[in-house]
Amino acid sequence: MIVDLHNHTPLCNHAEGTIKEYINSAIKNSTKIFGFSDHAPMDFDPKYRMKFDEMQQYERDVLNAKKEYKDKIEILLGYEVDYLKGHMDERVLYPDVDYLIGSVHFLEGWGFDNPEFIGRWESQNIDKIWQKYFDTIEEMAKSKLFDIVGHFDLIKVFKFMPHGDIVKMAFKSLLAIKAAGMVLELNVAGYRKKVQEPYPSRKLLEVAFTLNIPITFSSDAHHPDQIGMFNDEIVDMARSVGYTKCSYFVKRQRKEMAF
Ligand SMILES: [Zn+2]
Ligand SMILES: [Zn+2]
Repeated sequence: MIVDLHNHTPLCNHAEGTIKEYINSAIKNSTKIFGFSDHAPMDFDPKYRMKFDEMQQYERDVLNAKKEYKDKIEILLGYEVDYLKGHMDERVLYPDVDYLIGSVHFLEGWGFDNPEFIGRWESQNIDKIWQKYFDTIEEMAKSKLFDIVGHFDLIKVFKFMPHGDIVKMAFKSLLAIKAAGMVLELNVAGYRKKVQEPYPSRKLLEVAFTLNIPITFSSDAHHPDQIGMFNDEIVDMARSVGYTKCSYFVKRQRKEMAF
């Protein structure tokens, strides 16, 4: 991927590899702009993210690497922030970074993408869960707190698919994303999950394209070896839908690059 903005570090307690290993892997994959967006701290679900007092170290380590590698690759600093009402701390909403990815991993406190809690899928109406998810994405876009929508249709991760029309379910959230000027990431992590396809699906990406919503690319790597995996598949999908440019952010300002 020429631009790859969603990548983690071991500070989140569920990723492996040093910052340098991630960067070297990105250089090997001919990435021009590589961003770290580790899970921001939160008082909810603290074991899968850095602590508040680790933010400084994270930012310093990424900025040091940015300097060290500046002749080989452009490194950006970001966070992946959970959109979860009542748990979004000012310190993670207004840090001095290049961008924020807004992600929904919880519906009323239920970690729907966590295999530990997969049982709850069996006891609920799948269509209602999906609609609730996209309603929450819409709310997140309307908050205007974030630059990039993380894994737009993550709700499909375990392949519990709804009966209803997914485009209809997601449409209002796409309108809100457009209105907020947010960027949609083409995230390949879904290829590594039960659903075996990227976020978003081709069908949803086609709708995003008709709405003129800009895109970016993401490995969502939790290991240096995951960088660049499924690059050809995702770039082909973006091109065949009609996209020719991808976005990135420097100090919260959107920039574009042909891919
Ligand atoms: Zn993660
Ligand atoms: Zn995520």
